[in-house]
Amino acid sequence: MLNNFLRTITLSLIVATNKTMNTPPEFSELSPYVDPRDQAQILSRFCTIAAQGALRNALPKDFGGFGDGFAALCQTHRQLGKAGRDPGLLLMVNAHLWGTVFPVLLYGTDTQKQQFLPKLISGDWLGGHAITEPSCGSDVQAMTSHAERTEQGFILTGEKRYITNVPLADWLVVYAKLDGKITAFLVSSQDQGCTFSNVGSLHACRGSVTGSVILADCKIDTDRLLGKAGAGAQMIQKALEYERAFVFAGIAGIMQWQLDEVVRHSRDRRSGGVHLGKHQAISHRIADMKLRLDTIELWLNECARLCDAGQRLTMASAQTKLYAAEAFLQSSLDAVQIMGAAGLEPGNTMAELVQDALAGRLFSGSSEVQKNLIAALLGTGDAYRGGAAAGLS
Ligand SMILES: Cc1cc2nc3c(=O)[nH]c(=O)nc-3n(C[C@H](O)[C@H](O)[C@H](O)COP(=O)(O)OP(=O)(O)OC[C@H]3O[C@@H](n4cnc5c(N)ncnc54)[C@H](O)[C@@H]3O)c2cc1C
Repeated sequence: MLNNFLRTITLSLIVATNKTMNTPPEFSELSPYVDPRDQAQILSRFCTIAAQGALRNALPKDFGGFGDGFAALCQTHRQLGKAGRDPGLLLMVNAHLWGTVFPVLLYGTDTQKQQFLPKLISGDWLGGHAITEPSCGSDVQAMTSHAERTEQGFILTGEKRYITNVPLADWLVVYAKLDGKITAFLVSSQDQGCTFSNVGSLHACRGSVTGSVILADCKIDTDRLLGKAGAGAQMIQKALEYERAFVFAGIAGIMQWQLDEVVRHSRDRRSGGVHLGKHQAISHRIADMKLRLDTIELWLNECARLCDAGQRLTMASAQTKLYAAEAFLQSSLDAVQIMGAAGLEPGNTMAELVQDALAGRLFSGSSEVQKNLIAALLGTGDAYRGGAAAGLS
């Protein structure tokens, strides 16, 4: 199979870095971006960075991790963003880690951990998670995919859409309702009755793939249940908390490059007899870009601190995702404006980052959903069901 062939070639060409690395790898051999929708290249880039240890931070040594923490994970992702300048590759890594690796670590049986973690952490297997459906996005409870018990296990039926890493993924954590409650299952691309396809691919983050999963009476054994039956909603919440906290760690690396390029351009380009940056309209945009980037870094550090201290992440991760997604879009718009028409030339990364930033406001829960969550955690908004006004009516 193409996937296995590519992995064997890539992994055998690269000598794995030492297993107790303290400094992040350079990822210096990664060329910026990838040819549009070249699946072989997308997978090969993933294997390359996996072989350099990109998937091993904040994971136990027992399964091939570095046994370090989330601050180290942020450093690695930031470096990956700087070197690759590829939001798609970062999305791919994040979907793999928060969608499959961490749920198996947190909720898997000992047998599941032994079976899945070493291969997922080494990059031999690519994972992801399938929550969204054609008629269910922000409203997770509206999902219609369902599971029925059989003597040997379960039969899954339904359709998932916009799933990162499909069709390349080997395994997905698929969420479906069992007895009316959301439940997690480990599903393989090889399972009978399961089809991974390109349907639903998106015009964003082109260094990754996004596709559909059709479950047509897909039969799986009992040992594919992940976590407790009916616990899927909490598992989604936990997975998304991690994803929201750290999905912009790599993008912060790209934003640093974006800022450096804009500063350089503002010095080199001349207008009205002076360098472009001499105009306050330009220099103030650049100052705003710097402030946004550094604010994202502060939020990332705070999320890493909370995770490393074993503290709750719900509020901080929603704030981080909301702030970072909006900041990335605004800074990407500013960068194109400062570059002028050159920023819109075909193949210009700056313009492409705008498109990717639009996706950033949707994946892992939209900006509106983060605001709903923050308000709910404060005890108001849509989730508020009581209080003086309600009592008077
Ligand atoms: C690049 C990319 C990768 C993705 N990868 C995955 C993946 O790996 N796995 C997966 O399961 N899904 C994935 N998704 C899907 C993603 O999770 C959904 O796009 C997201 O949950 C929003 O759902 P939706 O697109 O159906 O929009 P909808 O839920 O239909 O929302 C449409 C608009 O209405 C707003 N809205 C909806 N409900 C409310 C509300 N209650 N209050 C206020 N505003 C609201 C939304 O914010 C949005 O602006 C991915 C999406 C993208 C763009």
